[in-house]
Amino acid sequence: MAIASINPATGETLKTFNALSAEEIEGKLQLAADTFRTYSRTTFAERKPLMMRAAEILETKKHDFGKIMTLEMGKPLKAAIAEAEKCASVCRYYAENAERHLADEIIETNAKKSYVHFQPLGPVLAVMPWNFPFWQVFRFAAPALMAGNVGLLKHASNVPQCALAIEEIFTTAGFPNGAFQTLLIGSNAVEGILNDRRVVAATLTGSEPAGRSVAATAGKQIKKTVLELGGSDPFIVMPSANLADAVMTAVKARTINNGQSCIAAKRFIVAAEIYDEFEKRFVDEMHALRIGDPMEDSTEIGPLATPQIVDDLDAQVKKAVASGARVLTGGAKIDRPGNFFEPTVLVDIDINTPVSCEEIFGPVAMLFRVSGIEEAIEIANATPFGLGSAAWTNDAAEQTRFIDELEAGAVFINGMVSSDPRLPFGGVKNSGYGRELAEFGIREFVNIKTVWIGAAD
Ligand code: NAP
Repeated sequence: MAIASINPATGETLKTFNALSAEEIEGKLQLAADTFRTYSRTTFAERKPLMMRAAEILETKKHDFGKIMTLEMGKPLKAAIAEAEKCASVCRYYAENAERHLADEIIETNAKKSYVHFQPLGPVLAVMPWNFPFWQVFRFAAPALMAGNVGLLKHASNVPQCALAIEEIFTTAGFPNGAFQTLLIGSNAVEGILNDRRVVAATLTGSEPAGRSVAATAGKQIKKTVLELGGSDPFIVMPSANLADAVMTAVKARTINNGQSCIAAKRFIVAAEIYDEFEKRFVDEMHALRIGDPMEDSTEIGPLATPQIVDDLDAQVKKAVASGARVLTGGAKIDRPGNFFEPTVLVDIDINTPVSCEEIFGPVAMLFRVSGIEEAIEIANATPFGLGSAAWTNDAAEQTRFIDELEAGAVFINGMVSSDPRLPFGGVKNSGYGRELAEFGIREFVNIKTVWIGAAD
């Protein structure tokens, strides 16, 4: 794929970039290794003001950064500006908490003193997706840099201007040259970089095939990886739920980021007692969404990021319909310039078909009617993925069952799945492994070193 900014709302090519040459990649890897030698010895107190400054830049220039995101991948501008603000929050969170999360932990043993000591690992490669083009990068970079690692970013090929803007934020904030570098490269260059001894670990946020490929290469080199992959999150609604809130949140949870979020609710599993009412209200709300130019304040659904995503979505809807599903609203591409697809609701999905549990990356919702909690949990878990899950119920016993039995990295009761710097984020099953955010995230790329000191003679 060419490295280019193409406006998804119009199809216009805004800017193209040449991929780095082998010599340029070599120079950047060496700079990362050299910088790590000195940067890893800096103290938390020295790193903290740099990360706070990065947060300030993000806030001061949030409108500029928002525009770049919207122009490159099509999310509504107000959501893009909010994304820049959220990045500032993760920078502040780790600026303020990294030292506490990585403080020595004394453990009583037979030693005079024994403790756990956390040390940075080295240059870490981050392979990142376009859907939250700032947030995905900052939630890796803020903990990695505060831990004393250095970062190398291979961003998705359709968001090069975002990638370059992020590098500039860290440079302007005062991080040493080489602490965070953007590599403008295609995915074909990733294997060579992972095989390079100077790169010590990798994190990938993206699709399952990309995750398998990066993990396989890293595995051969015995390098640690964190994988944040796809999802087919269930959103369960039980009879005791507040239906109005559940419907409103369901629409938002499916269509956030134009439907292109790993933790978007994708399968709506609704108890028979309230199903008809839920379906009616949900379809009405999906039908009423305002589709349009993502730069406009009133737009609720913008274009999908690339023409390929529209084609993939169209093929999935056609496949579902061919196996018996019915379309209650939407169901097709929109005939206008740009990558637009109608907000769509599918029902009567055969749960034995792959499309019933694969990831649908766009504003297409699948509704399932269930007889009770047993069937709700069974369908919720009938997917290879296990990222997030949401369950709406005011029954305490049902809440406990969902918390215990849903196979996912997160369970949200009476809410929609979202990320928060204070809470760990990640999946089980084919959604990946490892965690980002909170204390768990900053401990992924550190040497957890055991120190044992005996009594002096
Ligand atoms: P993608 O096609 O997998 O791309 C993600 C990144 O991986 C891009 O930088 C891409 O580079 C690179 N890449 C692709 N194939 C690769 C390979 N074989 N080897 C090395 N690198 C490779 O995914 P996407 O379409 O950008 O993003 C959507 C996916 O990300 C969805 O599945 C979504 O659920 C997932 N996601 C997960 C999370 C999470 O936290 N779990 C968050 C957001 C998104 P190129 O652009 O150059 O191909």
